Amino acid sequence: MKYHFSIALLLFSLFIFSQTDQKIYDIIEAVSAERIEKDIQTLVNFGTRNTFSDTISETRGIGAARRWIKSEFESISKNCNNCLNVFYQKDFVTKEGNKRVPHDAWIVNVVAIQKGIKYPNRYIIMSGDIDSRGSDTMEFTKDAPGANDNASGMAGTIEAARVLSQYKFENSIIYVGLSGEEQGLFGGGGLAKYAKEQNWDIIGILNNDMIGNIKGVDGVIDNRTFRIFSEPVPANETERQRSLRRFYGGEVDGISRQLARYVHKRTKVYMPEMNPMMIYRLDRFGRGGHHRPFNDLGFAGIRIMEAHENYTQQHQDIREEDGIKYGDVIEHVNFDYAKKLTAVNAINLACLAWAPPAPKTVAIGGIVEPSAKLKWNKVEGAVGYKIYWRDTTSPTWDNSRYVENTTEFTLNGIVIDNSLFGVAAVGDNGHESVVKFPNKILR
Ligand SMILES: [Zn+2]
Repeated sequence: MKYHFSIALLLFSLFIFSQTDQKIYDIIEAVSAERIEKDIQTLVNFGTRNTFSDTISETRGIGAARRWIKSEFESISKNCNNCLNVFYQKDFVTKEGNKRVPHDAWIVNVVAIQKGIKYPNRYIIMSGDIDSRGSDTMEFTKDAPGANDNASGMAGTIEAARVLSQYKFENSIIYVGLSGEEQGLFGGGGLAKYAKEQNWDIIGILNNDMIGNIKGVDGVIDNRTFRIFSEPVPANETERQRSLRRFYGGEVDGISRQLARYVHKRTKVYMPEMNPMMIYRLDRFGRGGHHRPFNDLGFAGIRIMEAHENYTQQHQDIREEDGIKYGDVIEHVNFDYAKKLTAVNAINLACLAWAPPAPKTVAIGGIVEPSAKLKWNKVEGAVGYKIYWRDTTSPTWDNSRYVENTTEFTLNGIVIDNSLFGVAAVGDNGHESVVKFPNKILR
């Protein structure tokens, strides 16, 4: 008995310290470039998916597109004993008061929820966009295939649902097609508000917007690099939080940045051939995406996208001028790359959905002492905790120490002034939460 117990303990420890889970490799393998290609083609075939386009036709416009997405989620659900709750979430926008709204319309998102077994009210979200646009966002009848922007993100989200619906998770996963992106981030705004009203405990949103282009307008061809955008600190932080930061630090350690680091690290561990690039800003210079309305309400959210954009192939009517072919057509989408970025999403959804929550409170102390002290609240469902620290100039959590049976620890010889610290909770399956940056001072 004693012998068996030690073997079990050894295996468990190996699992914790090897930090990999075979199921995650299986998930990467299961993502299909062919299915993503087929779904992008289907979305392109609706002609235009402009938010203000036809809603009656069965073959053209945003209405046909969203009905198809809903039916696709429903058939995925049929294949997993109805594991998805599929519904429309909608808000009405009016022409009056909105410069980029050509006429009053419903902004309709398609939501599919896979309920978690242990923490059903905790949600990790993956989003893509249903809608597309041409050169003029107010023009809603012309063709706007939006193959890369953003049928790629939408197809990736549907594919992630297909793969992950074959597993059971502790936390809930939401797969969502958002609408109204191009005219003012309406769909994301509507769902973020809905999440607040429903009291959903949001772990974060992985917003996918353009995940299929590998040939940049600058001529660079790269099918391994991708970008993870995250804002530095929450947009809705208080004046007091802002002033405390001057003395205790945390300028680059907000909740969205921790989510970005989480995705960066899991990609490095499980898909080492990829080159994830953390970008220390909310989004591209002066431009927007559907994670922002979530950030506005204080939810963690990041944008995942290709590294090299091609501006002649986004927000352009299909045409030829001076020998240049304009338009977001399917010929420019690299399905294998879209598959890789979909796998990046799927493995991070899975890791987060299998992990316990992070500690809510992490206190830190050690002023004029040779060692840093940390103390955190006990997390139900955690078997241990990982204390992380890094140089103040490092973008990644480079050092860690695993501890069990305690909710406090002193890092001997690590001076508080010279590093940044955080704590993650670890489950019995080896999966860990996002790192929690200290939010309290120990005196
Ligand atoms: Zn766009």
